[in-house]
Amino acid sequence: METLLSKHWHTISSKDALRYLETDDEKGLDRFAVKKRQNHFGQNVISTQKKQHPFYLFIRQFHQSLVYILIAAGAVTLFLQEWVEATFIFGVVIVNAVISFLQEYKAVTAMAALAETMKAEATVIRAGKQERIDAKDLVPGDLVRLQGGDKVPADLRMIEIHDLRIDESALTGESIPVDKQAGQMEHGLGLALADRVNMAYASTLATYGRGLGLVVAIGDKTEVGRISRLVAGATEIQTPLTRKIAQFSRYLLVAILVLAALTFTVGLSRGEPFFDMFLAAVALAVGAIPEGMPAAITIMLAIGVSRMAKRNSIIRKLPAVETLGGTTIICSDKTGTLTKNQMTVQEIHTIDGRYTLSGTGYAPEGAVQPASPENPDDENSRALAQCLACGILCNDSRLLQKPGNWEIDGDPTEGALIVSAAKAGMGHDEMQAAHPREDELPFDSGRQYMATLNRDMASDKHRIHAKGSVESILEQCTAAMTATGEIIPIDRETVFAAAGDMAARGLRVLAFAQSESLGENVAEGMPNEIRDLVFLGLQAMMDPPRDNSAAAIATCHRAGILVKMITGDHALTAGAIAGRLGMIDDTADDSSHTRTGEQLAAMSDEELMVAAEESTVFARVSPEQKLHLVEALQANAHVVAMTGDGVNDAPALRQADIGVAMGKNGTEVAKEASDMVLLNDNFATIVSAVEEGRGVFDNLIKFIVWTLPTNLGEGLVILAAVVFGVTLPILPIQILWINMSTALLLGMMLAFEPREPDIMTRAPRDPGLPILDTQMVFRIFFVGILMLIGGFGLFELAEWRGFAVERARTIAVNVFIFIEIFYLFNCRSLKQSVFRIGFFSNPLAFAGVGVMIALQVVYTYFPPANRVFQSAPISLGDWVSILVFSAVVFGLVEAVKARLRKKNARATV
Ligand code: ADP
Ligand code: MG
Repeated sequence: METLLSKHWHTISSKDALRYLETDDEKGLDRFAVKKRQNHFGQNVISTQKKQHPFYLFIRQFHQSLVYILIAAGAVTLFLQEWVEATFIFGVVIVNAVISFLQEYKAVTAMAALAETMKAEATVIRAGKQERIDAKDLVPGDLVRLQGGDKVPADLRMIEIHDLRIDESALTGESIPVDKQAGQMEHGLGLALADRVNMAYASTLATYGRGLGLVVAIGDKTEVGRISRLVAGATEIQTPLTRKIAQFSRYLLVAILVLAALTFTVGLSRGEPFFDMFLAAVALAVGAIPEGMPAAITIMLAIGVSRMAKRNSIIRKLPAVETLGGTTIICSDKTGTLTKNQMTVQEIHTIDGRYTLSGTGYAPEGAVQPASPENPDDENSRALAQCLACGILCNDSRLLQKPGNWEIDGDPTEGALIVSAAKAGMGHDEMQAAHPREDELPFDSGRQYMATLNRDMASDKHRIHAKGSVESILEQCTAAMTATGEIIPIDRETVFAAAGDMAARGLRVLAFAQSESLGENVAEGMPNEIRDLVFLGLQAMMDPPRDNSAAAIATCHRAGILVKMITGDHALTAGAIAGRLGMIDDTADDSSHTRTGEQLAAMSDEELMVAAEESTVFARVSPEQKLHLVEALQANAHVVAMTGDGVNDAPALRQADIGVAMGKNGTEVAKEASDMVLLNDNFATIVSAVEEGRGVFDNLIKFIVWTLPTNLGEGLVILAAVVFGVTLPILPIQILWINMSTALLLGMMLAFEPREPDIMTRAPRDPGLPILDTQMVFRIFFVGILMLIGGFGLFELAEWRGFAVERARTIAVNVFIFIEIFYLFNCRSLKQSVFRIGFFSNPLAFAGVGVMIALQVVYTYFPPANRVFQSAPISLGDWVSILVFSAVVFGLVEAVKARLRKKNARATV
């Protein structure tokens, strides 16, 4: 069989292919063959996926402008034979690279692992039964059903096709989906992959139609496995924030170089020794560089990813964590996201009868009863029977009995139709067996209906069955069926009125129709245009809102986030549900809160921008209009999160700032296009992700506001020393010590800062504003200057009192570190008082501080440390001055915060 697997499958007929692989074209493989082949061929996974090589990732860490300065400084110290300094500088460069590398590597692999947890499934036919299995368990010879939205699970030789289109861009680069055909390819061997239209290749995406394929290669043997390329695309690690920071570091680089050169020349012109001035320039450079910042930011984003995963949202692209926090609008699906997607048919209307159904959920227990008991004959209505039959023939889903409950395999809307028919005693399997399907027009949310061509085994005649939205079906109906089976001209108005009445009560209404009998030979299959159908009836189903949707929407409103409902459903149904969820006031006369796709289509771009902003419910919207709505909202400077599940939603998901795909009911195509996947399809999950995103962004800003004053202070201290022509208060090696140890032990702890209580009651951040507002910039300068005063001042005082320079420098270093320790607590909230947010609410901050203090004791009193860092023991009195000064800084910053709070409070009153 091995040799057969390398065959050019597209050149042989599907019969031959089935024969080679010993597969029955109807029943598929039997259990025994599957077991045997699984043992023989192993799992359907690609083992040789070449990720970005870790070494490359490591090397890339050095490619940062600020690291260049460090390397240059290190090289010159080497040249000057300053071994200790050189070792330390290179040590820092390497330690920094290792930490950044580990974090980035961890983030990338963690996200890949998260992606893995959303395991791919495939629909196979084995031993005559159709089942969903983990795609890993496919073997060569398996029969696989594909439909629009699926990711192709293995290389397939297609043997049956209904309008199947596949997007092969992942493999061939060709972005237009390819129309597949099942036939044998005449001239074949040299044909390029893209031209082998009877094949479907693993990792490509089915965008439309359906098909049946024979697995001919799995895992590494597939085309994508052979080129062993990471098709999912590299995980992006850059975010808007890290990009801005990279840009900021480039400016910083120039500023630092200029200042360093200035220091150097000013000193030299004063007649200071060359070496001392060089040291000063290096000190300035290493001091002003925030070495720990890039690593810290990646770590914080990665922590955000894992926190969100715990709350059921899988982040596929790291930047999403940050963007989520800035979301100003969430556009959500109705069905399944805001509602439970547990459909139960409650009412059925035919042209001359009305019925109600009892029973709840998917259990096929209950009855179909005439709504007016005075006409008990209605129960035997032909139209009712045909309407229910249509619902199960024109249906791709199945009802499964699981221990204790009933489940739907497929679309819940269709599931409800199987249940309604069952309540009237009509069996799904028997019905389908008696009327096998010969062709079909799959459901498409643009077209809004689905149709099948079925053969009646008894009469050998054909008939089209169609179901879909009331508008789309009625458009094709010229007649209607009565209770006695008579065909009469249709009165559309009464049907629309009945449908409108049910929709206004929040019911989802589907219409059903069938053709007259089409005779024996319909060789052409399903016509593309369906006309002259006979209307059978309406089935209206209830889809209750999710329990937590209303609360989540209220949270959004408090958080200044607009929520829009975008649905393919009827305007009245959508409006009723939106009213129930508190999204709109549906008792008001003003109906401008709801727009239909038809209205949107008639609008100019400007009108669309206004409508997108003002209206809340968008009904009967086509997927293209979703895209236009996203664009219109973005033109209004919104940060838009948009949900989607279908193939056609992919463009809107890509366009949105945060594309959100459904993990349960979403197609692979939608997931592939998204930034984030909701494991439970629940609207409230998006809101919790936004909350986490805001928390992460807050913590990032806290870190930046905490870290930059140190760099500023250190740079200023060196500058001051050179300008005044005095001894350097801190040496480069000491500066590096301060920067690295505090970033890791103190700054990182801000990543574990709990979310502040007001996080979902304040307005979203304005995407147009810079990351740091003027108040924060002011604070950075304020604290930076206090550090200058403390560091430089206490150093000069010590010199003046005649202390040894080592001791004076140790005082200066400890001033910096202890100010950072105190200021860390200031930064735990940028606006609130630390005592308000809970002084002890971040235990890790205390742990970090504890370790930091222990290290400083070692730094100050341990002789080997004294030798490496040129430090020296200091007295209790020195400590007192250090602690008092740091405490004063803490008090001043809290005072500034308090003043700003007062001012802001007055401004908002
Ligand atoms: P949504 O998911 O937002 O409710 P869809 O685009 O899925 O909207 O559906 C739009 C309309 O198409 C529905 O209101 C319904 O009338 C009809 N419809 C939905 N699912 C099916 C289906 N499987 N077969 C036929 N018609 C359907
Ligand atoms: Mg839908």
